Amino acid sequence: METKNKKHVAVCGGGLVGAMMACYLAKRGYKVDIYERRSDIRLMEVVRGRSINLALSCRGREALRGVGLEDEISKNGIPMGARMIHDLNGQRRPIPYGTKDQYIMSIDRRLLNEALLTAAEKYPSVRIFFSHKLLSCDFEKGEAEFCNDKGDTLRIQVDLIIGADGAYSALRRQMMKLRLFDYEQTYIPHGYMELNIPPNSNNEFAMETNYLHIWPRNEFMMIALPNLDKSFTTTLFMPFEIFEGIDTEEKLMKFFEERFPDAIKLLGAEELKKTFFTSKALPMVSIKCKPYHVGGKSVIIGDAAHSMVPFYGQGMNCGLEDCIVLNEMLEKYNDDLAKALPEYTKMRHPDATAMCDLAMYNYIEMRSHVNSKLFLLRKKVDNI
Ligand code: FAD
Repeated sequence: METKNKKHVAVCGGGLVGAMMACYLAKRGYKVDIYERRSDIRLMEVVRGRSINLALSCRGREALRGVGLEDEISKNGIPMGARMIHDLNGQRRPIPYGTKDQYIMSIDRRLLNEALLTAAEKYPSVRIFFSHKLLSCDFEKGEAEFCNDKGDTLRIQVDLIIGADGAYSALRRQMMKLRLFDYEQTYIPHGYMELNIPPNSNNEFAMETNYLHIWPRNEFMMIALPNLDKSFTTTLFMPFEIFEGIDTEEKLMKFFEERFPDAIKLLGAEELKKTFFTSKALPMVSIKCKPYHVGGKSVIIGDAAHSMVPFYGQGMNCGLEDCIVLNEMLEKYNDDLAKALPEYTKMRHPDATAMCDLAMYNYIEMRSHVNSKLFLLRKKVDNI
């Protein structure tokens, strides 16, 4: 391990991207303190939050490779080589993503986050402060203030403050007060709710395993990704007003009988009713902003910089790729933060913005275009 760069960095947020960035920086010899709002998820029985599993693609895998975690993570992932379309009449048809050896992987979010935190902690120069929430910061002085779960406040001073604190980033909120900071946020009219398809009576997967299952119904859709325990995390996406209109068990069953008849048996009618009426549909937001940095003192990465709707399955992958690009900029400018951070914004902003736009486009592709004859024809011609 290199030890020449003794820069001291505070990473705000110990989610997927913050923990990954800490690994890259520790590898460069930086002293890294992660401040995470939640307590240690490795000690929790249940971790609340969004999407139980995620599709990991080559962007994310490359980032994992860079810190020696690709094998450990991918051996716990389930390859998905194609979408499996569930038509209204119950017929299923696969649409491959690419050639036979190309696939994305279904990964357990908790497992991935835990592995990244453990990997970060293995570097002697990394410390993790759980239950520490970022309150404010002073970009000129490189100071940040946190409060812990006991209500104590802690003020620190470092060379670099990184915001990896997610879509509702507190660090980005501070940046928004600065001159010439652009910000754009769009909520889509759809919400999402997670349901569950348990293993079948033989304790096997209840559907074909190596697929991302999709029930495209134009205005809305449902998807399912396989888990290691042989269940499928199933996510229903539809306009909030339709969620709100389904206010009795009868209406729910009628809706599923009309729109997703083959899924009722898989989900189990009683479980479906229970989950639907005890859960809340959650919002999805697309956020673009610029610049990502403040001088040579601070930078935002991951969802804090570019939150995208989940239909392209690239939010986390893009955030993990941020770590590669930021690391490359530090390398290129010999750890001169005043040069590396502006260059990072310059390099990363157009790509991340394009990903936000593609995700929004795929919102329509997944629920609607996969139904069209033209789409099927194009796939046939492209052999994908
Ligand atoms: P987060 O995962 O949000 O982590 C932020 C961390 O910061 C959290 O641990 C939080 O507790 C902490 N924090 C927040 N505020 C503070 C504070 N003030 N102080 C200190 N800590 C703080 N992406 C994919 O690539 N593939 C997929 O298949 C996929 N599916 C998705 C499905 C759904 C339904 C949704 C909603 C998203 C999906 N995504 C997917 C996107 C993915 O979840 C995000 O892009 C990813 O979680 C971003 O990681 P992050 O570390 O930047 O932010």
